Amino acid sequence: MNYRISQRAATLSPSLTLAIDSKAKAMKAAGEDVVGFGAGEPDFDTPQHIKDACAQALADGFTKYTPAAGIPELRQAIADKFQRENGLTYKPSQIIVSCGGKHSCYNVILATCQEGDEVIIPAPYWLSYPEMVKLAGATPVILPTSDQTEFKVSPGQLRAAITPRTRLFVLNSPSNPTGSVYTPDEIKALGDVCVEKGVLIMSDEIYEHLLYDGAVHKSVASFSQAHYDHTIIVHGFAKAWSMTGWRLGFLAAPEPVARAIDAIQSHSTSNPTSFAQKGAVAALTGSQEHLPKWLAEYAKRRTYAWKKLNSIPGISCVNSKGAFYLFPNISKLGLSSTEFCSRLLEQEKVAAVPGIAFGADDYLRISYATSLANIEKGLDRLEKFVKGLAQ
Ligand SMILES: *Cc1c(COP(=O)(O)O)cnc(C)c1O
Repeated sequence: MNYRISQRAATLSPSLTLAIDSKAKAMKAAGEDVVGFGAGEPDFDTPQHIKDACAQALADGFTKYTPAAGIPELRQAIADKFQRENGLTYKPSQIIVSCGGKHSCYNVILATCQEGDEVIIPAPYWLSYPEMVKLAGATPVILPTSDQTEFKVSPGQLRAAITPRTRLFVLNSPSNPTGSVYTPDEIKALGDVCVEKGVLIMSDEIYEHLLYDGAVHKSVASFSQAHYDHTIIVHGFAKAWSMTGWRLGFLAAPEPVARAIDAIQSHSTSNPTSFAQKGAVAALTGSQEHLPKWLAEYAKRRTYAWKKLNSIPGISCVNSKGAFYLFPNISKLGLSSTEFCSRLLEQEKVAAVPGIAFGADDYLRISYATSLANIEKGLDRLEKFVKGLAQ
């Protein structure tokens, strides 16, 4: 049998973050004392009232198909969230609930991009964006940035990259993997360029609530009617409510795009899990008391890790302003990020993700969604590893 794999699937690169993660997990399972900085998810449990709402829905027999785009109650709660927190007016029909924020991104790209289209993605990027663009048959156009600009693209850089084929600009603030946050003025300026050039924006705002040092989040959709008309917001429950395993994301889009995505979803996944959606309603309408506690904890870890990283000779690190990642520069140490990370894992049993996975080989991604004790232990080992390199 000739198992010819489709060109579409064959062009994909497997997820490097998941590969390192599974190696670290295998070492752990074999009894080794591995410190993991690879996690792309909060280390906190889902708040109890959210779990209770889900359990109640199960007990009530809420176990059947729902509308493909989500239950009306949840789409309304999401529309209310955008009004309350972002000053953005969406009808429930403009909201689509999907099986994770990742699925929402994929739906957006599939609904708006096709062969011949270009999609502009600033690097370092969340590693799934370029692969999703390839799956849609379109071409990713990567805009490199560095720690010199806090990993931000300038409006001039964006403008220069736009061609008649450019369809979509991917904006992710706060950023995974860098923790960088654009200021409202910077966001507006990038939005202005897209509006002027008729380019759609996919704004991935899943880390909206995870901000430090007084950083503020402003959605690009909120600057004018034109900005709103050019923007599709992607969001989800994974990060601010620690619901990664629930697989629930959402998006807000202009009507024609939302309709197209509803159709795609109705023929692919159908609805996200019925009883999980009831948990999501509780997440949006119930207490948000967990969040300040989590933020205080993340902030403590971030400050410790940032100072410690900068104290290691050869490493420099800009502080993150959002999400739960630091992205230290290791270019002075003479190893590729892949070699650095695999030797670090083998010699010191510390798992970090090589920057090359995010399109930036001079860096590592360190997640501080792990306990302060782990961070102390892991960074002590990292320091030992780096000092060993110098000899
Ligand atoms: C975590 C994450 C998502 C969504 O994750 P899901 O688990 O699919 O909800 C989307 N974008 C970025 C940048 C993320 O880090």
